[in-house]
Amino acid sequence: MPSLDANEIVDSENLPDLAEASAETALRWALDKFSPNVALACSFQAEESVLIDMMHRQRGSDFRIFTLDTGRLNQETYDCMDAIRERYRISVEVYFPDTVKVQDMVRAHGLNLFYSSIEQRKLCCAVRKVEPLNRALKNLSAWMTGLRREQAVTREGVSKVEVDNDHGGILKINPLVDWSHDEVWRYICDHNVPFNWLHTQGYPSIGCAPCTRAVKPGEDLRAGRWWWENSDTKECGLHIDSDASAKNNINSASGKQDVGI
Ligand code: SF4
Repeated sequence: MPSLDANEIVDSENLPDLAEASAETALRWALDKFSPNVALACSFQAEESVLIDMMHRQRGSDFRIFTLDTGRLNQETYDCMDAIRERYRISVEVYFPDTVKVQDMVRAHGLNLFYSSIEQRKLCCAVRKVEPLNRALKNLSAWMTGLRREQAVTREGVSKVEVDNDHGGILKINPLVDWSHDEVWRYICDHNVPFNWLHTQGYPSIGCAPCTRAVKPGEDLRAGRWWWENSDTKECGLHIDSDASAKNNINSASGKQDVGI
């Protein structure tokens, strides 16, 4: 099914201003507007546990989530995936990397190429994450993420709703963008939500096993991701807008009505 034209949506008189909307309101708007062509990108971190629980409260099992199985994930992440499948009675759409691309990469550069240079780390992320993400988004009109601004310097400019120019101009909705770490965990505790057990072992942020480690008290939330790199390079390419100047922040559009839900 073809994706909606995001520019058409931006220009629409019915576009709600979601900048100050609650996470639940932003989710409901996205699900009502785009289902079944909207899905949550899930790496089974705490933020996504929150969003899955919220969607379940709104729609039962009638929502979609997808994940990228890079082949290098922790067992705890698979355990969380199964816990969520069972708790919410949902199927997880799992995308794997292209086998031939992985074979060619590891034959040329080794299995642990990511430690050699930023370029090789980004090559591994491109093969194991970015290409599968492109496939996952191909037929969607919008996708949702658990991004929060306080997670990293690279995420300080993220908006609640954005046009994703790197993926055909579909919409990208980040309902928890203005949530704090404490708010996430308060929700998880209050609602007894399944979460990735690595979070109890000093992992505030979880990615692939060889590229993620526990952080020390007081360290940055993403200090354990690619810890051998500088903080301004710490993205895998999933959430980078390669044409930032063309980025449309829907929330700043004027004359839009509040969603009012
Ligand atoms: Fe490869 Fe590490 Fe990126 Fe995972 S996080 S895709 S193992 S470089």
